Amino acid sequence: MSDNITQSAAEAAIGQGNEPFNMTPVEAALPAEEKPNMAQKADWGDPVPYNYNAYTKDATHEWESNTARYEWDGDYGDVGPEFPELELQLFGDPTLRGKKGIDFSTIDSIEVFQEGPARIDPIANFEDAGLHPVMLKNVQLAGYDAPTPIQRYCLPAIHNGYDVIGIAQTGSGKTAAYLVPILSKLMGKAKKLAAPRPNPATYKPGVDAPVTAEPLVVIVAPTRELAVQIFNEARKFCYRTMLRPCVVYGGGTFRDQQEQLGRGCDVLIGTPGRLVDFLERPAVLTLRRMRYIVIDEADEMLAEDWKPQLDKIMAGGDQEEGTINYMLFSATFPKAARDLAKTHLADTHVRLRVGRAGSTHRNIAQDVIEVAGPKKKQALLDYMNDLKPQRVIIFANSKRTVEELDDLLYKNKFPCTSIHGDRNQKEREASMRAFRCGDCPVLITTGVSARGIDVRNVFLVINYDLPSMDHGGIEEYTHRIGRTGRIGHHGVAVSFYDPARDEPIASVLTRTLLETDQEVPDFLKPYVPEGVARENLKFEADSDFEEDAGAAGAAGDAGDAGEGWGSGWGTGAEGAEGVEVPNNFGPAQSTEESVPAW
Ligand code: ADP
Ligand code: MG
Repeated sequence: MSDNITQSAAEAAIGQGNEPFNMTPVEAALPAEEKPNMAQKADWGDPVPYNYNAYTKDATHEWESNTARYEWDGDYGDVGPEFPELELQLFGDPTLRGKKGIDFSTIDSIEVFQEGPARIDPIANFEDAGLHPVMLKNVQLAGYDAPTPIQRYCLPAIHNGYDVIGIAQTGSGKTAAYLVPILSKLMGKAKKLAAPRPNPATYKPGVDAPVTAEPLVVIVAPTRELAVQIFNEARKFCYRTMLRPCVVYGGGTFRDQQEQLGRGCDVLIGTPGRLVDFLERPAVLTLRRMRYIVIDEADEMLAEDWKPQLDKIMAGGDQEEGTINYMLFSATFPKAARDLAKTHLADTHVRLRVGRAGSTHRNIAQDVIEVAGPKKKQALLDYMNDLKPQRVIIFANSKRTVEELDDLLYKNKFPCTSIHGDRNQKEREASMRAFRCGDCPVLITTGVSARGIDVRNVFLVINYDLPSMDHGGIEEYTHRIGRTGRIGHHGVAVSFYDPARDEPIASVLTRTLLETDQEVPDFLKPYVPEGVARENLKFEADSDFEEDAGAAGAAGDAGDAGEGWGSGWGTGAEGAEGVEVPNNFGPAQSTEESVPAW
């Protein structure tokens, strides 16, 4: 057991020495026990009331699926002209781009293991990746200085035409790992491969006939929020090219999404249900030109039982010519995902694993606090009251608890917002926007709604409820705490352990703490394995991936697997010392500067 983390995660998250500020006269008149704790409320800013009326059906509010993308004029040559206004919208303020948190001092020490018959030579920088010049420019505009470990392998693998399975920690840059090489390869060929579409300069929706969408790339993601997030990345990388991205997801208006498809679609991102809805209308969408299909967060999708839809989408249907490349990305790699891979991927596929499947990052300081069920609400309030303002995600297991916590924190003057499956899509989009832009830096959510979400500078994750073993168990825990500590940033995860309820997860949680060099609290000490079992901890956690790996030949020394994973994301020691709480939560881009680099 390493004692790298000397400061408890809970302490690390709590700032000191904030100036108190004055209560309003109404608040001052309240009896002592009802007076709000004003210690740091000044910094948190005002709570923003949830405006449900603004997001009802006929509000003029824009859908995410309708946001601006580069529109290709049929007369352009090979590369479209720049549009500074759109460029600003897609990539953000140029003075704030770049330096996104990759730790260049340790990046070389991160090990990537590859399996499969082909050997991939990793690239060291984007300039060596054989990218289309427009793609290289877009990567630079996005502020990506160097590829992340998974990108170093994925770019050449996809460039060379292999199917790929990528297993990497959340926040390791998987989206660009597939978007950049796929779109780059298509850029030079778009005019030849892509379906005809109307000229956007002259197209009149409702007057001119829509085309059938025949995407070259289809990306499937389990949640609406994640689909939108991938769409936003795709909008960046498609800048100044003919490739036109679209996104479809349940809850959004069918008509608007269909209208967008009717203007032509080369890159389609969608949730499985809505994709299949559109596929059942072949005049609107067909996959006959599809060249690439990407399944993102495959483990989550299979856990949610989207298998019938996935099979339908992956079958492609009526291929005109050519073959389809399959990509499967996931943070963990359970059996259902392995089966899906076996059915669809070429035997020559490349399997890439960064660190260890299913493991949590070491740069996330994890604290587990024993709190009896009935005392949890007060514990949360106490904890929040001691906190410096920062982006926080609070996970609860039921929609009802999410609602209750939203009420509780709102009443206590925290600028919070919440999402869960019963909210309509406009409400969900509005909440995510409020959280991202910093209007509501406290997000309360159920686990599934937050899967794959990447928001910068989430410093703290609170598991108000630990996941139950029936609903995701320790893998769900991994996903949740992975919302912090994204791309080389340090994060803190605090979990409330209710002895009456959480006993089933105690053993595997304790092992996770040990594997990631965290302190094991006293009440979990009985679950610490001993002797050989302790020695074998890392080995066992690896076996899930190795099982039926066939002619597995890890690029590195398999015996080092346990040591290699994640080492480059910062050690536990840095996690403790380097912790610095961003003291504002303005727009994500602008906080970049205030985050300690690494
Ligand atoms: P994952 O899918 O592995 O969880 P994402 O693809 O969501 O990770 O990426 C996490 C964040 O890192 C995103 O904000 C993305 O823009 C950023 N990112 C990805 N690649 C790089 C890179 N090479 N350099 C800097 N930032 C990057
Ligand atoms: Mg992802």
